[in-house]
This record gives sequence, structure tokens and C-alpha cells, in this order.
Amino acid sequence: MRDANSNSWEARAEEYSLYGFTDLPSIHQRGTVVVTHGEGPYIFDTRGRKYLDANSGLWNMVAGFDHPGLIQAAQDQYARFPGYHAFFGRMSDQTVMLSEKLVEVSPFESGKVFYTNSGSEANDTMVKILWFLHGAEGKPQKRKILTRWNAYHGVTAVSASMTGKPYNSVFGLPLPGFIHLTCPHYWRFGAEGETEEQFTARLAAELEATIIKEGADTIAGFFAEPVMGAGGVIPPSKGYFQAIAPILKKYDIPLIADEVICGFGRTGNTWGSQTYDFMPDAIISSKNLTAGFFPMGAVILGPELSTRVQNAVEAIEEFPHGFTASGHPVGCAIALKAIDVVMNEGLAENVQRLAPRLEAGLAQIAQNPNIGELRGVGFMWALEAVKDRATKTPFDSALSVSERIANTCTDLGLICRPLGQSIVLCPPFILTEGQMDEMLEKLDAALKKVF
Ligand code: PLP
Repeated sequence: MRDANSNSWEARAEEYSLYGFTDLPSIHQRGTVVVTHGEGPYIFDTRGRKYLDANSGLWNMVAGFDHPGLIQAAQDQYARFPGYHAFFGRMSDQTVMLSEKLVEVSPFESGKVFYTNSGSEANDTMVKILWFLHGAEGKPQKRKILTRWNAYHGVTAVSASMTGKPYNSVFGLPLPGFIHLTCPHYWRFGAEGETEEQFTARLAAELEATIIKEGADTIAGFFAEPVMGAGGVIPPSKGYFQAIAPILKKYDIPLIADEVICGFGRTGNTWGSQTYDFMPDAIISSKNLTAGFFPMGAVILGPELSTRVQNAVEAIEEFPHGFTASGHPVGCAIALKAIDVVMNEGLAENVQRLAPRLEAGLAQIAQNPNIGELRGVGFMWALEAVKDRATKTPFDSALSVSERIANTCTDLGLICRPLGQSIVLCPPFILTEGQMDEMLEKLDAALKKVF
């Protein structure tokens, strides 16, 4: 039990919380930042400290923490009709309107939407849709899932199996049948003397060889984030999606774009797949979908999958899948407002307008000899720290240099995220020029303290 002298927020947090995705030595040493409220892109803690959150919560609070229109949309819908599901022949009016809106703003000419509570569940749901579909089409053995090393698709048993991170081995994951291909990060994984085009061609050849080796009839689908987010902000190598999409098509393997981070403006366009110029067969959405104001995810099927899946469902008369809060009317009302805010209130334009300024500011900071690579697009960027820039030698991970940079940033009033050896910036879309300068100045100061 906690003794009477340790009644602080930090001590209470430590006593009663099992921390997820948290470096415990840092917490033991520094305590937890217990957050009470937010204003615009800033958060405040129980000690009255103010931080500019360059992490947008967790990529998702794109309209800031107190957007009046989003709060109003939630309040109105709670007052009108607080909660319901989307099953048994019933569905809220908000859910109907949101599905219509999502298909309208999707890159698809027509489509169908299924709702979940999170991005992980949306990926799980998509895998189940593919298993269901292939089974119904007489190919029950078409079950393997292709993804990439370093990809992040979530934490449920299936989406964690899709995730290409070694830490999942502590759970005995991935499950059998989840195959990880090479991460399309040219700077890190390009071979000596290999051009970026040759690297991309090598990855495409690896994909085709894997399909042939495993058998196309055993592979249910290929999942990819347009830009890997939690892998450390990794844009695809040049021509990557143009090289792999025709191979997937040739072998009837659906290409699923996990747009949980990239969707709704993060890369400068509505969809990351637009930024990287490819047409997926389905889209996974979450996070920005509600601007972080409600936990919600969605699977958006493109025209071909919609038709095939609908036919399969008609044949057995029911799709036996869903969550208690699938299509929650408050979530849908917030999502409708969030889409409006991002697309029609200048947030998406703000990303486009300020992305070059952000890139230029980061490029200055990246002159630091301990920064090996600056990479990103739109409002998602990473600076990768290296011990030796010429040889790209990473720091000894035990020293966790990115953790030290992030902690120093926190001390200076800036929240940014350490990811592997990189420090990641993904600010809210409402950021002003002044706030961007504040973010860059604090990051620069932190780097100068650490190196
Ligand atoms: N997919 C991607 C690309 C993500 O970045 C995330 C979360 O960060 C997920 C899926 C999982 O979403 P959630 O944390 O809502 O389950």
C-alpha cells in the first residue's frame, strides 16, 4: 500500500497502473506526467506545467484538445441519443450519414463501411472479412497475411501478428501464417551500392518470390501503411507501391491501406494512398477519423470487395461479426464533424501550407552531426539519431538516446515521441507558425543538450 507521504499524482499513478508502451526506468526516475486538460495544441499537468504536444496525443488529436465544434457535436449527440449498436436491423441515423460520408470522401466510387472501436480492431475485422470472403468463394486455405517488418497495425492478437516489431515475441507472436517482408526504408536497408530504384525492385521481387513460394491461393491479403508511423515515420522507397500493386493484382491478393495515421490529412492529402499514388482495395481508418475525440475505427471496402463481400454475406444471410459499440452514434456524430473540420475549416490546407516550413526547420536541426536521417511528409517527421553519420552506425540501444532526447524535450515543455533511435514529430493540424517555431526551437535546444 502507498504510504501517507506519497499521496502525489505520480505515486498514485505508479501504484495502480500497469503501464503500456512506457519505459519504466524513465518513469521510476522521472515520475508520470499526469495530464489534466488541454488548450489548442497544448496540454497541462497536475503541477501546472504546460507542454506543446508535438505528438498530437497519439497522432490523433489533429484539431487540438478543446475544439469547440467537436465538443458541441459530442454534447449535442449525447443529449439526443447517447449510445447504440449497428446490428439486428437497427442503426442510428448518425451511422447512416457517416458511412455515406466516408464513401464520398474515400478514393472509391462506391463502397461499404464497418465500424470498430479502434484501429487494431479495424485491422482484425479486415482480416476476418478476407478470411470470410475467401472461404465463401471456395478458397478456405487463402488465409496467410502479408505485411512488412517495422509495420505497426495494432495490439490485438491478429493485428499484433501483423505488426512487424520484435517486441511481440514476449507474447509468443506472431501467430502462424503472418509473413513479414522487408521494410521499404532505403536509407537503412538499401544494400551497399544499390540505387533506390534497385532497392524498390528488389522488394517487389521479394514479394513475388514469397507469393510463388507460399502459393497465391494461401494468401488472403497484403496490408501496408502508406507511410509507416510507429515504425519511425518511414515513407516508402521511390516507386514502392507502383511496383508492388500490379504483383498483388496479378495474384488476386487484396491490397489494404492501413490509413489509421495517414488518413484525413496527415500526409497533406486526405489519404496517404493519394500522396503515394496508389489505389487500395480497402482502407483502414481510425485516430483522425474522430480527431481523437472518440475511440472509433472503420473498415472502408472499395467497390470490388464490397460487391464480393456482400454476395458472400447474402449467401449465408448474415455476417457474424461486430462490437457492442460498432457505429456508436456519438462517435459517428463526432466523426462527421471531424471530417468537416479537417476538410472544410482549413486544417488540411494548414498542413499543406506549413509542411515546407516544418521540413525546412527540421532540415536545419538535422545538420547536427548525430542526426543520420530526416524523413517524413506533411505533418509526420522523424529525425534518426546515429553515433556515426557516415557509417549510419546506431547508438547502443541500451543508452536509448531517443528516450533521452524526448525526456529533455519534456523538461523544456515539448512532448515528442522516441521511436527506436528516432525522435518523431506529428503535431496537430491547427499548429500556427509561432507554435511551429516554438516546437522547432525546443527540439533544437534539447538536441544541443543531449549531444
Ligand atoms: N494501424 C496503425 C497504422 C496505427 O498507427 C495504429 C495505432 O497507432 C493502429 C493501427 C492501431 O490503432 P489502435 O491503437 O486504435 O488500436
